[in-house]
Amino acid sequence: MPSPHTTASDAAFARRRLVHIAPQARNNSRMHAGQELVERLRSVVGEEHVLTHPDALATYRSDGLLHYRQTPLAAVLPGTAAEVQAVVAACHDAGVPWVARGSGTGLSGGALPVAEGVLIVLARMRRILAVDLDEGEVVVEPGVTNLGISRVVAPTHFYPPDPSSQIVCSIGGNVAENSGGAHCFKYGFTTNYVIGLDVVLPSGQTVELQRDAPGYDLLGAFVGSEGTLGVATRIRLRVVPAPESVRTLVAFFETTVAAGEAVSAIVSAGLLPGAIEMMDRLSIKAAEQATGAGYRLDAGAALLVELDGPHDECSSQFEQLVDLCTGAGARDVRVALSQEERELLWQTRKAAFAAMGRVAPAYYVQDGVIPRTRLAEVLARIDELATDYGLSVANVFHAGDGNLHPLVCYDSGRPGEAARAEELAGMIIKACVDADGSITGEHGVGVDKRDYMPAMFGADDLDTFQRLRCAFDPRGLANPGKVMPTPRLCGEVPGPYREHPLEREGVATRL
Ligand SMILES: Cc1cc2nc3c(=O)[nH]c(=O)nc-3n(C[C@H](O)[C@H](O)[C@H](O)COP(=O)(O)OP(=O)(O)OC[C@H]3O[C@@H](n4cnc5c(N)ncnc54)[C@H](O)[C@@H]3O)c2cc1C
Repeated sequence: MPSPHTTASDAAFARRRLVHIAPQARNNSRMHAGQELVERLRSVVGEEHVLTHPDALATYRSDGLLHYRQTPLAAVLPGTAAEVQAVVAACHDAGVPWVARGSGTGLSGGALPVAEGVLIVLARMRRILAVDLDEGEVVVEPGVTNLGISRVVAPTHFYPPDPSSQIVCSIGGNVAENSGGAHCFKYGFTTNYVIGLDVVLPSGQTVELQRDAPGYDLLGAFVGSEGTLGVATRIRLRVVPAPESVRTLVAFFETTVAAGEAVSAIVSAGLLPGAIEMMDRLSIKAAEQATGAGYRLDAGAALLVELDGPHDECSSQFEQLVDLCTGAGARDVRVALSQEERELLWQTRKAAFAAMGRVAPAYYVQDGVIPRTRLAEVLARIDELATDYGLSVANVFHAGDGNLHPLVCYDSGRPGEAARAEELAGMIIKACVDADGSITGEHGVGVDKRDYMPAMFGADDLDTFQRLRCAFDPRGLANPGKVMPTPRLCGEVPGPYREHPLEREGVATRL
């Protein structure tokens, strides 16, 4: 797309698709091996928990990133950790790749199945195994929902990382993505709360990883590894005491720049809100239509800020917060006066993604990070790009963390618009990297962003990641084709272009 703001190399960055994995040849011996594996899986989990009919598999062809679809050989729904172990061991013996799946809400294609591979769906494993509030710990199976954890420890405790998808996303998926949420500005991400994991390695062996064990922090490496190092089957988490008091407001500004200045003023004043969330005009319009919470439709930006802590501290800081918002140009500040009002304010923020359907036929969720101080500059660049591409972009973000979620709106019924939206989303990521930010804040790399990895990491970094991955999964069976930009095999040396073994076999084509 030629434009005054976009160079040819920028556009090449956004369009980069280095390797296209072609469907594997379905020869007879492979089909036979596949049938044998399916029989073995049925004997492990029971016939009703192995899905192979195309209609039954339709549900599992993609995750929240609907642009990518793939039908696996089978979807298997184990009910226990022992069954997961037996399923992974069977795949290992058969040399068949597999992908773990929680609730399938991921937005980077992490749970996209592999053709001819097995999808291991953990949704049946929803037991709470232990709750110890004296120690502030819970132990759960991976299919338990994020909100299910806070519910089981309420009202005295809660589990802070709170993705907007928390009603449905699984804690196993949260661990694999190192998920965040609105309250991570103060409380930290999933990695700050995982203290122990039972993991089935790609070899089929189960290991226990502990946060404070001597030696290398393998648990730290597993959190955020996007299903490429094994399957988490038992998760030990830290929960924290519920705050004595919570105060919430929403402040309305003329522009996102003014709201951004309010964020800087709040942080510089030494306040540490539980959450600071921003929505721009278009996202307010969509979400307000969905919830009717009373967000101002004439505002250019809304800032949702929540303070929590001891009652007296919260009250005095809340007054200061209102002054800071007003001082930064807020033309209206609404304070939640009851728990119901607080929930309504939050509902509007949390509904923002889903509500986009009210203003656009389709949208592409982007996830990038920038230093908070460069918010105004990057938002201006996003506006510029949206104009160049002739598309609308709504912005919803965790403003405290500088974690942007631009929602690129498009109409797939218009020829070429979906591709243009994807390219624009790529350009937004480039703008984040150019501003010393990151290609992802919390949605992961998956299949969606693997080709952008070289924009952040050098060949040596990628090689180190690959070595770690190979230490866990020397045969490359766990979630292949995700995270890493090219499908290198373990033992391959990086360097100048050499024909990849998969290219030689005619399975992959370099574009
Ligand atoms: C409306 C909406 C709002 C969202 N808001 C947020 C948000 O605020 N913050 C945020 O961080 N994310 C958000 N997300 C993204 C998504 O919900 C999270 O990434 C979530 O953690 C995915 O969980 P899941 O159970 O759906 O995982 P899936 O999508 O099923 O899988 C995600 C990845 O985890 C791997 N995996 C799943 N279970 C396991 C396991 N037991 N062991 C090993 N690997 C496993 C998969 O292989 C895949 O790579 C949002 C998504 C939607 C649709």
